[in-house]
Amino acid sequence: MASLRESLSVRNLSKHYGATRAVDDVSLEIPRGRFVTLLGPSGSGKTTILMAIAGFVHPTAGEILLDRAPITPLPPEKRNFGMVFQGYALFPHMSVAENVGFPLRVRGIGRAETAARVKESLSLVQLGQLADRRPQQLSGGQQQRVALARALVFQPALLLLDEPLSALDMKLRAELQLELKDLHRRVGLTFIYVTHDQEEALSMSDSIAILRDGRLVQEGNPDTLYERPESRFVADFLGKSNFLSGRVERVRPGGFTYTVDGARFVQDHAGAVTPGSRALVALRPEKIDVLAEGAVADNATEGTIAAWSYFGASFSLLVDAPGLGRLQVVVPSWRCPVEPAEGRRLRLGWSAGASVPVRDD
Ligand code: ADP
Ligand code: MG
Repeated sequence: MASLRESLSVRNLSKHYGATRAVDDVSLEIPRGRFVTLLGPSGSGKTTILMAIAGFVHPTAGEILLDRAPITPLPPEKRNFGMVFQGYALFPHMSVAENVGFPLRVRGIGRAETAARVKESLSLVQLGQLADRRPQQLSGGQQQRVALARALVFQPALLLLDEPLSALDMKLRAELQLELKDLHRRVGLTFIYVTHDQEEALSMSDSIAILRDGRLVQEGNPDTLYERPESRFVADFLGKSNFLSGRVERVRPGGFTYTVDGARFVQDHAGAVTPGSRALVALRPEKIDVLAEGAVADNATEGTIAAWSYFGASFSLLVDAPGLGRLQVVVPSWRCPVEPAEGRRLRLGWSAGASVPVRDD
């Protein structure tokens, strides 16, 4: 039975504040030991879902189950979940070791066991040397690692993290992303991670749930979400996309042709489509090739470079393509067959499987 592997279930969760639907009928199955990310713009309901899982927010409707047992009525302290927030919320008057030991003191654990567990927890986050320091003697990244050690010290059933890295500068954030992933591998605990940063979500998660206005719009592993977005919103929010809007012309097994302003394109597609219906297709900038003279592709268009930038490994081009509008193209600099220049004409191409049909929402 699949449900034996389910560690946490969120079932039809809603939280309304007056007319605001902070969370609207969200269901999630989170298998034990996974790194699951709730990703969405600000105000999409991420924190509210996390707080409902933690027990700080009482749902308007729905249920939360841990290993198939309902925990919705339990207060936070009975759930035994670790939490890490954006602000470090360390006690300034306590040493690192006292901060980390605090949850154990609250639980009435004895001195010797506390000392051993604090030591173990600090070494998990590589802070063993700094046990006697005060929080203000630590860098932002170190403080966040203390907060992590404190959340892990009482051996929680799962770890809830709400934008824990968003207060850190970019370089430190990248470092801690790797550390967090590594920590997740070592402790084998379920991590539920909240972020509005799509790159962070893509690089860290086993699976991602994308939220919009309190609703779950799509979930899956990072590459499925990136390669197979179902809607314009997901294609646009997770990475960058060009959108081609046309009309389905002919349907064949495994795909269809569509026209945009008289130009014809082919599209791979397994699902059902009707001739004459509208086609909206998402096309990633890096999936468009700049065609060399005489090269052929499933789909091709002429265009004129409106603007371009050099990024060392790649060129980013904005190309005005008649009928298609302005397309963003990212091409590896070592295999760009034309030298980019404003006003230069070129041909772009992409395969029938490079783009993906999406819903227009
Ligand atoms: P996110 O974490 O994705 O930014 P939140 O879960 O914090 O989103 O908020 C979702 C929506 O619910 C927002 O519109 C927010 O203003 C609203 N909201 C959250 N908490 C409350 C509250 N205690 N009272 C009223 N509205 C709230
Ligand atoms: Mg939030």
